[in-house]
Amino acid sequence: MIRVAINGFGTIGKRVADAVAAQPDMEIVGVSKTRPSGEAFIANQRKYPLFIADIDKKQAFDAAGIEVAGDIPQMLQLCDIVVDATPGGIGAENRALYELYKVKAIWQGGEGHDVAGFSFNSSCNYEDAIGRDFVRVVSCNTTGLCRIIHAVDKVFGVEKVRATMVRRGSDPGGIKNGPIDAVVLNPVTIPSHHGPDVNTVLPGLDIVTMAMIVPTTFMHMHVLQMELKSDATREEILDMIKKHSRIGLVKKATGITSTAELKELASDMGRPRCDLWESCVYEGSVSVLNNRELFLFQAIHQEADVVVENVDAIRAMMGTVRNGEDSVQITNEALGFEPI
Ligand code: NAD
Repeated sequence: MIRVAINGFGTIGKRVADAVAAQPDMEIVGVSKTRPSGEAFIANQRKYPLFIADIDKKQAFDAAGIEVAGDIPQMLQLCDIVVDATPGGIGAENRALYELYKVKAIWQGGEGHDVAGFSFNSSCNYEDAIGRDFVRVVSCNTTGLCRIIHAVDKVFGVEKVRATMVRRGSDPGGIKNGPIDAVVLNPVTIPSHHGPDVNTVLPGLDIVTMAMIVPTTFMHMHVLQMELKSDATREEILDMIKKHSRIGLVKKATGITSTAELKELASDMGRPRCDLWESCVYEGSVSVLNNRELFLFQAIHQEADVVVENVDAIRAMMGTVRNGEDSVQITNEALGFEPI
């Protein structure tokens, strides 16, 4: 069993912990929190040993009736690999600690590429991550872009990509973020950081991205245009998407044209926390003009799509499964990942 620790049991960390615990070849040896919270209670309830960033705060956990197993250095001594899901910027500060305790580490998209020197996406570069000590799983938006661009590129070749990200203002639990009543250009300048971030996984790709933030909490929406190197038909693109293990097709027949209805679908399907681990391409939007121009909308569940990528990154770095598609299949099956 691969022994996994999660440093930062928040939005991403708690989901990665549950996904790891569901795998046949992995176990959770510890998760961490900074202060007593609902998530700390959940860690106890799930029987994940809970470690704390500042052991001087143990009294506060004791007073809340939350069991503490120790501090983060103690957690690191129990694991083969740590998934750092602390807020962006803090993860990089933890690198020295991981080196000291000689554990492999995975960071999230809130850190820069340099934190690990390798940016990961299971569909694009799983095999290049085999045996690595440090890997960064790219952000939710970059993950969504990489999946579809790489898939189209493999079959038709991609000349260039132009994409606009309409981003959620906050995660559902975030009470301090916004906007409440505005569309915020983020940034107002072009390009946004997403294109260069895609290049950390797909170097050399001609991609320009723009982004804005809107008052919603569930999912980002991507408006994607790709120029292809060879002719394609709409049917061929749809076939390709249907075969992809991490891209779902929002069937036109469902009548779904929004993120809100997708959340309802995920809930009705019994997905934990309504999580949509796959990119959700709207079938009705997939259009090919002049045989070479592809247009589509895809919704990306910001809290979920990177979760399965973290699980695959663990297997690649530990070298236990050497083929990306095999790992994706194990991860998906363990989660009971039925297509949308
Ligand atoms: P979050 O704030 O929900 O959770 C962070 C967790 O880290 C919290 O539990 C907090 O208690 C803990 N923490 C804070 N400081 C710590 C420290 N010094 N040591 C240990 N734990 C500490 O954040 P999140 O949204 O889960 O984001 C985590 C990372 O994932 C970031 O890099 C972020 O950019 C990335 N990411 C977030 C999303 C998203 O939509 N939320 C999507 C993709 C990637």
